[in-house]
Amino acid sequence: MQNNESALVLHSGGQDSTTCLFWALKHFKEVRTLCITYGQRHSQEVEIAQKIARDAGVPFQVLDATVISHLAENSLTHHDMVMDQDKPQDSYPNTFVPGRNLFFLTFASVIARSYGIRNLVTGVSQADYSGYPDCRDTFIRSANVTLNLAMDEQFIIHTPLMWLNKAQTWALADQLGVLEIVKNNTLTCYNGIVAEGCGSCPACKLRNAGLEEYEKNKNKYQA
Ligand code: ZN
Repeated sequence: MQNNESALVLHSGGQDSTTCLFWALKHFKEVRTLCITYGQRHSQEVEIAQKIARDAGVPFQVLDATVISHLAENSLTHHDMVMDQDKPQDSYPNTFVPGRNLFFLTFASVIARSYGIRNLVTGVSQADYSGYPDCRDTFIRSANVTLNLAMDEQFIIHTPLMWLNKAQTWALADQLGVLEIVKNNTLTCYNGIVAEGCGSCPACKLRNAGLEEYEKNKNKYQA
């Protein structure tokens, strides 16, 4: 029996999923987080996600899905590969982990089901990103239908950031009253540096440009 008042948040300790965690805390009575590891470059992601969950007072669970990194090569999990700095034309950067969000949503829904949770929250976005196919709204809707059919359940996948660019995601964190937490405690940087990061990897550039834009033009972003 699933209930409407609880949610499971896919949480990596980064800006986006942490903003989603606080979004979920605003919308649901009970919230759990799930941190899935898959051989990413930085193992401290788990500790960072755990600390954020602990500070927010929500249960935290880690799932080891390293098998994902053995299926295909990509620069996030194969540390000897040089990471693409930009999006190649007509393709994805080599940070693309094929199938990642399909695996994540499948694992998350099975775990959610075991707790009687029907709401899943993920920080994917199709604005302002690298164009990964499994971050698009169509994919999420399709996965939602498939998971419901697979388990004869009524999951609802929430994607609060789907149509937000980075500046708007910062604005959301501010509206939720957690701008400083997201700014200071999250890890987005591909080089494993917390908060504003190394400043030069693609993830830092996106994050920092979004923050700069938001802070410069706050009025524009106020709802
Ligand atoms: Zn960086």
